[in-house]
Amino acid sequence: MTDTQDHIAERKMQFLFALRSRGVTDATVLTAMEKIDRGLFIKGTFADRAYEDMPLPIAFGQTISQPSVVGLMTQALRLTGREKVLEVGTGSGYQAAILSQLSRRVYTVDRHRGLVGEAMRIFRDLDLTNITALCADGSFGLPDQAPFDRIIVTAAAEDPPGPLLNQLKVGGIMIVPVGQSDAVQSLIRVARSETGFDYDELLPVRFVPLVEGLGRDG
Ligand code: SAH
Repeated sequence: MTDTQDHIAERKMQFLFALRSRGVTDATVLTAMEKIDRGLFIKGTFADRAYEDMPLPIAFGQTISQPSVVGLMTQALRLTGREKVLEVGTGSGYQAAILSQLSRRVYTVDRHRGLVGEAMRIFRDLDLTNITALCADGSFGLPDQAPFDRIIVTAAAEDPPGPLLNQLKVGGIMIVPVGQSDAVQSLIRVARSETGFDYDELLPVRFVPLVEGLGRDG
């Protein structure tokens, strides 16, 4: 192996080790995260930190989530490969790309058109044909495609948005960070049953806030 190959292999090993040590243990999730190169989703000065377990800035003052949090959220969705999934908060597109490996179809929406466009370009390059990315206010979900087997919200809401709860199938799971925007939030798993919704608190997290309406470029 050349030096560069050695270096890449070692970074990849450290990346996967960090995921495992933070509780990402599902083999299918780890395989997806090994396959999808996070480096492709980060531009500019922070690109060389893509394999560290930390959130990083992307365009429009937003962030790409910490890899271990992406892994834990994905794991909490309990995907089997057959699901129709809605992601609110496309951001860089990294989380959607991971979901595309583990589900049937992914719809991802962001209020910034610029982010959606950039993510779509990467999905095309990677030939991820089961992702549809749209510019929309995700707090209203995606009524045209509802209901969903799984919903993942990657921006923090004060409460799980009502329209999203309504667009979740019975037997479905939604993962959403809940709390005041700049305080520590809780990652919540909502499971919908015939009779209502069950809520589970998973871990403390910190996400950018879910903001109403489209961005200025939206
Ligand atoms: N999942 C992303 C990280 C998301 S950061 C990744 O893998 O990189 C949160 C994103 O939520 C931001 O891009 C922000 O623009 C978006 N967002 C915030 N409020 C929103 C809303 N109401 N509807 C859609 N997207 C929203």
